[in-house]
Amino acid sequence: MPGGSGDSFLPLGPPMPLAVSVDAIRSIHRMHRQLEDLRGRIAAGPRAIDASSKEHDAAALRLQGIQEEVKKARLAGDQKQLQLRSMEVRIRDGETKLNAAKTNREYQLLGEQIAADKAAKSVLEDEILETLERVDQLKAAVPPVEAEVRAASKALDDLRQRVAGERGSLDAEVARVSADLQSAEKELPTDLLDSYRRVVKSKGADAMAVLEGVSCGGCCQQLPPNTVAELTTGRVVSCRSCGRLLYASGTG
Ligand SMILES: [Zn+2]
Repeated sequence: MPGGSGDSFLPLGPPMPLAVSVDAIRSIHRMHRQLEDLRGRIAAGPRAIDASSKEHDAAALRLQGIQEEVKKARLAGDQKQLQLRSMEVRIRDGETKLNAAKTNREYQLLGEQIAADKAAKSVLEDEILETLERVDQLKAAVPPVEAEVRAASKALDDLRQRVAGERGSLDAEVARVSADLQSAEKELPTDLLDSYRRVVKSKGADAMAVLEGVSCGGCCQQLPPNTVAELTTGRVVSCRSCGRLLYASGTG
Protein backbone atom coordinates (compact mmCIF):
# COMPACT_ATOMS: atom_id res chain seq x y z
CA MET A 1 0.00 0.00 0.00
CA PRO A 2 2.35 2.68 -1.27
CA GLY A 3 2.32 5.95 0.54
CA GLY A 4 -0.08 4.78 3.21
CA SER A 5 -2.59 7.49 3.86
CA GLY A 6 -0.30 9.93 2.06
CA ASP A 7 0.32 11.92 5.17
CA SER A 8 3.41 13.81 6.05
CA PHE A 9 6.33 11.97 7.51
CA LEU A 10 7.30 15.02 9.47
CA PRO A 11 4.34 15.75 11.67
CA LEU A 12 3.81 19.13 13.21
CA GLY A 13 4.36 19.41 16.91
CA PRO A 14 7.76 19.15 18.49
CA PRO A 15 10.22 21.42 16.72
CA MET A 16 11.55 19.51 13.76
CA PRO A 17 14.36 20.68 11.49
CA LEU A 18 12.12 20.45 8.43
CA ALA A 19 14.43 22.25 6.02
CA VAL A 20 17.30 20.04 7.06
CA SER A 21 15.25 16.97 6.31
CA VAL A 22 14.36 18.19 2.82
CA ASP A 23 18.00 18.98 2.24
CA ALA A 24 18.85 15.52 3.50
CA ILE A 25 16.33 13.76 1.23
CA ARG A 26 17.49 15.89 -1.70
CA SER A 27 21.13 14.94 -1.23
CA ILE A 28 20.18 11.32 -0.54
CA HIS A 29 18.25 11.36 -3.83
CA ARG A 30 21.30 12.80 -5.57
CA MET A 31 23.55 10.13 -4.08
CA HIS A 32 21.16 7.36 -5.19
CA ARG A 33 21.26 8.76 -8.72
CA GLN A 34 25.06 8.98 -8.58
CA LEU A 35 25.24 5.36 -7.48
CA GLU A 36 22.84 4.32 -10.23
CA ASP A 37 24.93 6.19 -12.79
CA LEU A 38 28.20 4.69 -11.45
CA ARG A 39 26.78 1.16 -11.46
CA GLY A 40 25.47 1.73 -14.97
CA ARG A 41 28.95 2.79 -16.07
CA ILE A 42 30.49 -0.24 -14.37
CA ALA A 43 28.02 -2.55 -16.15
CA ALA A 44 28.59 -0.79 -19.49
CA GLY A 45 32.27 -1.81 -19.53
CA PRO A 46 31.82 -5.57 -19.97
CA ARG A 47 28.95 -4.97 -22.43
CA ALA A 48 31.19 -2.75 -24.60
CA ILE A 49 33.98 -5.35 -24.42
CA ASP A 50 31.52 -8.03 -25.45
CA ALA A 51 30.33 -6.01 -28.46
CA SER A 52 33.91 -5.18 -29.49
CA SER A 53 34.91 -8.82 -29.10
CA LYS A 54 32.04 -9.87 -31.38
CA GLU A 55 33.18 -7.35 -34.03
CA HIS A 56 36.69 -8.75 -33.85
CA ASP A 57 35.44 -12.36 -34.13
CA ALA A 58 33.27 -11.46 -37.13
CA ALA A 59 36.23 -9.89 -38.94
CA ALA A 60 38.44 -12.88 -38.09
CA LEU A 61 35.76 -15.20 -39.44
CA ARG A 62 35.53 -13.19 -42.69
CA LEU A 63 39.31 -13.42 -43.08
CA GLN A 64 39.23 -17.16 -42.48
CA GLY A 65 36.47 -17.50 -45.10
CA ILE A 66 38.48 -15.63 -47.75
CA GLN A 67 41.64 -17.61 -46.95
CA GLU A 68 39.71 -20.85 -47.35
CA GLU A 69 38.35 -19.65 -50.70
CA VAL A 70 41.91 -18.85 -51.85
CA LYS A 71 42.97 -22.34 -50.84
CA LYS A 72 40.03 -23.96 -52.65
CA ALA A 73 40.62 -21.91 -55.82
CA ARG A 74 44.34 -22.85 -55.78
CA LEU A 75 43.48 -26.52 -55.33
CA ALA A 76 41.01 -26.37 -58.22
CA GLY A 77 43.72 -24.73 -60.36
CA ASP A 78 46.25 -27.45 -59.42
CA GLN A 79 43.78 -30.19 -60.37
CA LYS A 80 43.15 -28.57 -63.74
CA GLN A 81 46.93 -28.31 -64.31
CA LEU A 82 47.19 -32.08 -63.70
CA GLN A 83 44.31 -32.70 -66.15
CA LEU A 84 46.11 -30.50 -68.67
CA ARG A 85 49.36 -32.47 -68.26
CA SER A 86 47.61 -35.78 -68.86
CA MET A 87 45.70 -34.29 -71.79
CA GLU A 88 49.02 -33.20 -73.34
CA VAL A 89 50.41 -36.72 -72.85
CA ARG A 90 47.28 -38.16 -74.50
CA ILE A 91 47.62 -35.79 -77.46
CA ARG A 92 51.32 -36.62 -77.95
CA ASP A 93 50.46 -40.31 -77.65
CA GLY A 94 47.70 -39.91 -80.25
CA GLU A 95 50.07 -38.08 -82.60
CA THR A 96 52.61 -40.92 -82.31
CA LYS A 97 49.88 -43.44 -83.13
CA LEU A 98 48.68 -41.24 -85.98
CA ASN A 99 52.12 -41.37 -87.58
CA ALA A 100 52.04 -45.15 -87.32
CA ALA A 101 48.47 -45.50 -88.59
CA LYS A 102 48.01 -48.44 -90.94
CA THR A 103 44.62 -47.65 -92.42
CA ASN A 104 42.77 -44.54 -93.51
CA ARG A 105 40.00 -45.43 -91.06
CA GLU A 106 42.46 -45.65 -88.19
CA TYR A 107 44.11 -42.40 -89.30
CA GLN A 108 40.77 -40.66 -89.46
CA LEU A 109 39.62 -41.89 -86.04
CA LEU A 110 42.93 -40.92 -84.41
CA GLY A 111 42.76 -37.52 -86.12
CA GLU A 112 39.25 -36.93 -84.75
CA GLN A 113 40.34 -38.04 -81.29
CA ILE A 114 43.33 -35.67 -81.33
CA ALA A 115 41.17 -32.77 -82.53
CA ALA A 116 38.65 -33.44 -79.73
CA ASP A 117 41.48 -33.66 -77.15
CA LYS A 118 42.99 -30.40 -78.42
CA ALA A 119 39.62 -28.66 -78.08
CA ALA A 120 39.27 -30.03 -74.55
CA LYS A 121 42.83 -28.88 -73.78
CA SER A 122 42.01 -25.37 -74.98
CA VAL A 123 38.94 -25.30 -72.72
CA LEU A 124 41.11 -26.47 -69.81
CA GLU A 125 43.68 -23.76 -70.51
CA ASP A 126 40.92 -21.11 -70.42
CA GLU A 127 39.61 -22.57 -67.19
CA ILE A 128 43.11 -22.54 -65.65
CA LEU A 129 43.50 -18.89 -66.63
CA GLU A 130 40.14 -18.07 -65.01
CA THR A 131 41.15 -19.93 -61.87
CA LEU A 132 44.43 -18.02 -61.66
CA GLU A 133 42.53 -14.75 -62.06
CA ARG A 134 40.13 -15.82 -59.32
CA VAL A 135 43.04 -16.67 -57.00
CA ASP A 136 44.53 -13.21 -57.67
CA GLN A 137 41.20 -11.50 -56.96
CA LEU A 138 40.71 -13.43 -53.74
CA LYS A 139 44.29 -12.75 -52.63
CA ALA A 140 43.75 -9.03 -53.22
CA ALA A 141 40.77 -9.15 -50.87
CA VAL A 142 42.88 -10.59 -48.03
CA PRO A 143 45.00 -7.56 -46.93
CA PRO A 144 42.06 -5.19 -46.27
CA VAL A 145 40.34 -7.83 -44.15
CA GLU A 146 43.63 -8.58 -42.37
CA ALA A 147 43.86 -4.85 -41.59
CA GLU A 148 40.28 -4.95 -40.33
CA VAL A 149 41.13 -7.84 -37.99
CA ARG A 150 44.22 -6.03 -36.71
CA ALA A 151 42.23 -2.83 -36.11
CA ALA A 152 39.44 -4.75 -34.34
CA SER A 153 42.00 -6.54 -32.21
CA LYS A 154 43.68 -3.28 -31.23
CA ALA A 155 40.32 -1.64 -30.49
CA LEU A 156 39.42 -4.58 -28.24
CA ASP A 157 42.75 -4.42 -26.39
CA ASP A 158 42.47 -0.65 -25.93
CA LEU A 159 38.90 -0.98 -24.68
CA ARG A 160 39.84 -3.75 -22.24
CA GLN A 161 42.64 -1.57 -20.87
CA ARG A 162 40.42 1.49 -20.61
CA VAL A 163 37.60 -0.42 -18.88
CA ALA A 164 40.06 -2.03 -16.44
CA GLY A 165 41.64 1.36 -15.74
CA GLU A 166 38.29 3.04 -15.14
CA ARG A 167 36.95 0.22 -13.03
CA GLY A 168 39.19 1.03 -10.08
CA SER A 169 38.10 4.66 -9.86
CA LEU A 170 34.44 3.76 -10.43
CA ASP A 171 34.58 1.21 -7.60
CA ALA A 172 36.26 3.77 -5.35
CA GLU A 173 33.58 6.31 -6.24
CA VAL A 174 30.82 3.78 -5.47
CA ALA A 175 32.43 3.08 -2.08
CA ARG A 176 32.71 6.79 -1.33
CA VAL A 177 29.12 7.66 -2.33
CA SER A 178 27.78 4.56 -0.53
CA ALA A 179 29.53 5.61 2.68
CA ASP A 180 28.19 9.17 2.29
CA LEU A 181 24.73 7.78 1.66
CA GLN A 182 24.87 5.60 4.75
CA SER A 183 25.80 8.49 6.99
CA ALA A 184 23.15 10.70 5.35
CA GLU A 185 20.52 8.00 5.94
CA LYS A 186 21.41 8.06 9.65
CA GLU A 187 20.19 11.67 9.73
CA LEU A 188 16.71 10.73 8.52
CA PRO A 189 13.96 10.87 11.13
CA THR A 190 12.90 7.41 12.31
CA ASP A 191 9.30 7.78 11.10
CA LEU A 192 10.54 8.57 7.61
CA LEU A 193 13.18 5.85 7.62
CA ASP A 194 10.74 2.91 7.33
CA SER A 195 8.96 4.32 4.28
CA TYR A 196 12.31 5.35 2.85
CA ARG A 197 13.78 1.86 3.19
CA ARG A 198 10.68 0.23 1.70
CA VAL A 199 10.44 2.51 -1.33
CA VAL A 200 14.20 2.44 -1.96
CA LYS A 201 14.09 -1.34 -1.88
CA SER A 202 11.44 -1.42 -4.61
CA LYS A 203 12.41 1.61 -6.71
CA GLY A 204 16.12 2.20 -6.08
CA ALA A 205 17.25 5.64 -7.20
CA ASP A 206 13.72 6.28 -8.42
CA ALA A 207 12.38 6.11 -4.86
CA MET A 208 12.32 9.89 -4.53
CA ALA A 209 10.87 12.57 -6.76
CA VAL A 210 10.74 16.34 -6.87
CA LEU A 211 7.46 18.24 -6.80
CA GLU A 212 6.89 19.47 -10.37
CA GLY A 213 4.37 22.32 -10.24
CA VAL A 214 1.44 20.60 -8.55
CA SER A 215 2.32 17.10 -9.74
CA CYS A 216 4.53 14.24 -8.64
CA GLY A 217 7.81 14.42 -10.57
CA GLY A 218 7.89 10.62 -10.60
CA CYS A 219 4.45 9.55 -11.86
CA CYS A 220 3.15 12.94 -13.07
CA GLN A 221 -0.09 12.52 -11.13
CA GLN A 222 -1.58 15.78 -9.92
CA LEU A 223 -1.36 16.08 -6.15
CA PRO A 224 -4.08 17.25 -3.76
CA PRO A 225 -3.69 20.94 -2.84
CA ASN A 226 -2.98 20.14 0.81
CA THR A 227 -0.13 17.83 -0.22
CA VAL A 228 1.32 20.55 -2.42
CA ALA A 229 0.99 22.96 0.49
CA GLU A 230 2.76 20.54 2.81
CA LEU A 231 5.53 20.03 0.31
CA THR A 232 6.06 23.75 -0.20
CA THR A 233 6.44 24.21 3.53
CA GLY A 234 9.40 21.85 3.36
CA ARG A 235 7.91 18.51 4.32
CA VAL A 236 8.63 15.15 2.79
CA VAL A 237 5.43 13.44 1.68
CA SER A 238 4.94 10.16 -0.12
CA CYS A 239 2.97 10.23 -3.38
CA ARG A 240 -0.38 8.49 -3.06
CA SER A 241 -0.25 7.02 -6.55
CA CYS A 242 3.35 5.85 -6.87
CA GLY A 243 4.67 5.82 -3.32
CA ARG A 244 7.76 7.90 -4.14
CA LEU A 245 9.01 10.22 -1.43
CA LEU A 246 8.25 13.70 -2.67
CA TYR A 247 10.04 16.88 -1.79
CA ALA A 248 10.00 20.42 -3.09
CA SER A 249 13.12 21.31 -5.02
CA GLY A 250 13.49 24.47 -2.92
CA THR A 251 16.91 26.04 -2.75
CA GLY A 252 20.27 24.47 -3.38
ZN1 LIG B 1 3.90 9.75 -7.85
